[in-house]
Amino acid sequence: MAGDPRSDRRLSMDVAKEMERAGHEYKANKKWVARTKARPPRDLDEQFHGEHEEAFSRIDCLDCANCCKTTSPIFRDIDIDRLARHLGIRPAELVDRHLHMDNEGDYVLNQAPCPFLGDDNYCSVYEARPRACREYPHTDRKNMLPILPLTLRNTLVCPAVARILRSLREN
Ligand code: SF4
Ligand code: SF4
Repeated sequence: MAGDPRSDRRLSMDVAKEMERAGHEYKANKKWVARTKARPPRDLDEQFHGEHEEAFSRIDCLDCANCCKTTSPIFRDIDIDRLARHLGIRPAELVDRHLHMDNEGDYVLNQAPCPFLGDDNYCSVYEARPRACREYPHTDRKNMLPILPLTLRNTLVCPAVARILRSLREN
């Protein structure tokens, strides 16, 4: 997720263009996901992890921040406590100021872009950001199969995920 200071050697990118392309590819990606769910390859995780490395060797999150600008991470209690401590406020105050419960009973941000995102695309609370931010876009985790539908949706948010699915689909 944005704010990752690993920002050397990468190309700048037109996020809007990348997202437009991902929109055009959504149907094909959806088919690939359906096919893969029906007959998952044994090395699905390894395939994802290889493409994840490749995508993030080319994409600089600081050129993008589209996840922080358009979606909210889920805040678990532990995330709320950590961030409140970092900000020097009470957890209840953090909730009052910035969060609400969504339909699934999870705390999420009241607004997008995230109030902790700077104009320079750096996360101002990087060390204390929620776990969901640390793990986004989840393409390097174990057991990708159950989150293929989420990954498909994330092609419309994250240019890296769009690239990953494109590569997997075309290989
Ligand atoms: S806390 Fe906000 S700005 Fe920081 S990584 Fe998470 S969504 Fe992005
Ligand atoms: S949307 Fe993807 S590429 Fe863009 S900042 Fe978030 S994780 Fe990085």
